[in-house]
Amino acid sequence: MTELRGVGIGLGVAQGPVVRMTEAMPAPQNTASTLGADAERTRAREAVAAVAQELTARGATAGGSAQEVLEAQAMIAEDPTLQDEIDERLNAGGTAEWAVHDAFAGFRATLEAVGGYLGERAADLDDIAQRVLARLRGVDAPGVPDPGHPFVLVARDLAPADTALLDLEKVLALVTFDGGPTSHTAILAREKGIVAIVGAAAAADLATGQTVIVDAAAGIVTADPSDKEKNRAAERAAARLSADAAPLTPGALADGTRIALLANLGKPADAADAVARGAEGVGLFRTEFLFLSSAQAPTIAQQRESYRELLAAFPGKKVVVRMLDAGADKPLAFLNDSHEENPALGLRGLRALRASEDILREQLTALAEADAETDADLWVMAPMVATVEETVYFTTLAREYGLKTAGVMVEVPSSALLADRVLAHADFASIGTNDLTQYTMAADRLLGSVAGFQDPWHPAVLRLVREVGAAGARLGKPVGICGEAAADPLLAVVLIGLGATSLSMAPSALADVRRILATRTLDEARSLAEAALAADDAASARTAVTTLAATLPQH
Ligand code: PEP
Ligand code: MG
Repeated sequence: MTELRGVGIGLGVAQGPVVRMTEAMPAPQNTASTLGADAERTRAREAVAAVAQELTARGATAGGSAQEVLEAQAMIAEDPTLQDEIDERLNAGGTAEWAVHDAFAGFRATLEAVGGYLGERAADLDDIAQRVLARLRGVDAPGVPDPGHPFVLVARDLAPADTALLDLEKVLALVTFDGGPTSHTAILAREKGIVAIVGAAAAADLATGQTVIVDAAAGIVTADPSDKEKNRAAERAAARLSADAAPLTPGALADGTRIALLANLGKPADAADAVARGAEGVGLFRTEFLFLSSAQAPTIAQQRESYRELLAAFPGKKVVVRMLDAGADKPLAFLNDSHEENPALGLRGLRALRASEDILREQLTALAEADAETDADLWVMAPMVATVEETVYFTTLAREYGLKTAGVMVEVPSSALLADRVLAHADFASIGTNDLTQYTMAADRLLGSVAGFQDPWHPAVLRLVREVGAAGARLGKPVGICGEAAADPLLAVVLIGLGATSLSMAPSALADVRRILATRTLDEARSLAEAALAADDAASARTAVTTLAATLPQH
């Protein structure tokens, strides 16, 4: 047996035979056209239009965020700049095949050079180009194979068009050797609850037919496992199934201590699923979705409608809305169009909003209006707060708009270290462990080469969480966790032991976290936290906690 490491999406575990994704078609040669530029142009135009239509149709079948992604792809396929690039190559005497291939490759290189979020979209272009090429050649587009039995799909990366329509009866799990945690594959896998591991470079060596266990919780693919390992994985999968079927009780520890289990949402349309999975409210509503798709900020009326829809789904419940968090991994031209060498350390989050205060004021206006029309308990918070002065600025401004509960996200070590001063001015703190880990470990959260540092189990990160938890307890203010760390069941217990009072996560993670919290008392959570804090690194913290947990009584 061999173990391959990658980034796990979700907490599932699955096993089955590998089926490799059909490899890309070979690149066409730059040979002179025998048909002439006009005929080639017609061929290219028809093929592009057919692919755009097919992508739109797939989107309509898939629905949800897949539809948005596929519609965006259809638009890219027909992008006029790209058409010009194709025409230029046709006019130079190239074939439609070559012109499409070369023009898309040029566009891809540009995106890759930009890096970050746009860089991760580069692979999407390959898929569109391959589809157009397949049309031109009159062959099937490369895609998900259908071996006639359930399988673990292993691919370089999956195109959104493929992920969107994956047959979940057949695909037991997904492993990619490229692609990071923010690739479309990861986002859609998370949304559909597919057991997935992305960026497992060594998976390129897996062969069709080989048996693997895909353990997303651990981020490990085990090739050729022993019978014992297979049985253990099957038991875990069964336990997860029963957790899914368990009653949707409010989050609580074994000693009855209440820990609210909240949802991280990106769109009001996702609220129904969160409610169905027992979310007790929303711990993080990311408002970027409203802004990312447009060239200008949405109007107050458009925003109010979205917020109203969200709040209406949670009558009487807490809903924490985060102000627009633009910059770095979420670039937005109208907020910050200057080139920055280190955008994660630049004008982002609250800094960018302050530089365009009208956008912040409009957002607060829309939220106050939606609040007045609904019965949810609206809390607002600012992202990327680094100083006490920024805390005072934001909470004062929010109160000016009549928003009664205003807090800050703790994502920068400076505000964790000064948590008592920060919390003196804020109604609550919410720890964003994704960014807090990035800044504590000085490791870009989008960069595969430093992904090993991006581990919230690191005791340095946990010590910062302890600072915030202790300050919250002293001042009687709530401290939530809304980064991915809250969705890791064992770590969730540690975070409670460090003083977190609520946990917010992707709705698909709620059942697992609810189940594990019920097995531990607050005293035990504190002991587990002590064990993690005493470790030298993330891996030993995890091991220390697992080892100690095995010796504690079962409740
Ligand atoms: C975080 O940084 O942990 C967080 C929740 O915010 P985002 O992932 O949107 O940056
Ligand atoms: Mg963040």
